[in-house]
Amino acid sequence: MSSNAHAQQFAPPAETVEDRRNLIGLSRAELEAALAELGEPRFRAKQLWHWIYHRGVTDFAAMTSLGKALRGKLAECFVIERPAVATAQASSDGTRKWLLRFVDRQEAECVHIPEADRGTLCVSSQVGCTLTCRFCHTGTQRLVRNLSAAEIVGQVMAARDALGEWPTPMSERQISNLVMMGMGEPLYNYDNVAQALNIVMDHEGISISKRKITLSTAGVVPMMARCGEELDVNLAVSLHAVTDEVRDQIVPLNKKYPIAELLAACRAYPGVHNARRITFEYVMLKGVNDTPADARELIRLLKPIPAKINLIPFNPWPGAPFDCSTPEAIETFSDMLFAAGLSAPVRTPRGRDIMAACGQLKSASERKKKVEREAASVA
Ligand code: SAH
Repeated sequence: MSSNAHAQQFAPPAETVEDRRNLIGLSRAELEAALAELGEPRFRAKQLWHWIYHRGVTDFAAMTSLGKALRGKLAECFVIERPAVATAQASSDGTRKWLLRFVDRQEAECVHIPEADRGTLCVSSQVGCTLTCRFCHTGTQRLVRNLSAAEIVGQVMAARDALGEWPTPMSERQISNLVMMGMGEPLYNYDNVAQALNIVMDHEGISISKRKITLSTAGVVPMMARCGEELDVNLAVSLHAVTDEVRDQIVPLNKKYPIAELLAACRAYPGVHNARRITFEYVMLKGVNDTPADARELIRLLKPIPAKINLIPFNPWPGAPFDCSTPEAIETFSDMLFAAGLSAPVRTPRGRDIMAACGQLKSASERKKKVEREAASVA
């Protein structure tokens, strides 16, 4: 199925708030067209772009380089609207997690992870996910729809709002890196993700360089080349197993695009070379994929690919059908990869005290809403 077929099946709501169109998420050309409808010249789009994406203003009245009459006209026709923060959590390790609510009241998660040399924002591409990976909490959620470009860019802007990071700083940014690793499969919502990333990368706005953006996929093989050619962002692949037999079980998408096809697409990924490797994510599941034999096979499979590996200790959630591998198993696995010359750091779990597994915050919110609905129907 093409990304467009998916987009139609799970279309986001129209980007309007009380009849006024949201300017966030429009490409430069679309912004120019929207202004042309008001009889405004092209260069106005450049001015607005600066106010919206560099300065981060939400109110047309603050756009002091525009005439007062125009500011009034813009406010009548448009809004600059980010998703609302439904829940905000802060971990003792500095990780912050927001449950963001969109105009149709659907919700998705966004996480900020500060580290010594960088700050990474983990962004969602869909509400829920169709892939049903067995270890992933988001895969248990029923409702799925694509996020619009506005809703994807809106996550970055809402995080910037919460961190007080406007105007876009030149250096020492709290959000220096962006990973499309939140809820959803970004390559099943390619068009909106691409439009959003092009806005985020634009030098006159949020300006996060493609070298600092990573898109993570469970392996939607037919979309990978296009992603590399058009966006040229870093690629992460959720591999998690070294045989089709095991991967079919834990990442059902493998039945459609098995390991050999996936790795062939990785070898052919545009722009891949030794200085710019593909990241392979590998979640450590006790007794499933964590033996020395698995490590040996992983080394063999990845030999022809400029690769680095992220070993992720499984993040447990209530009812999950797996346990995390033992620390000893993880260490042995990691040591074997290092000895074979592969970079294989173990990702220390972050935000453990704030519902670490992706999707948990959204599920908690759904449960709360259900309880409230039931209470209201009894009353
Ligand atoms: N659909 C995309 C992006 C979202 S998942 C993909 O599959 O890559 C982002 C990463 O988190 C994936 O590597 C996924 O396998 C991993 N992940 C999901 N649930 C996890 C859990 N409970 N513990 C550890 N990693 C998990």
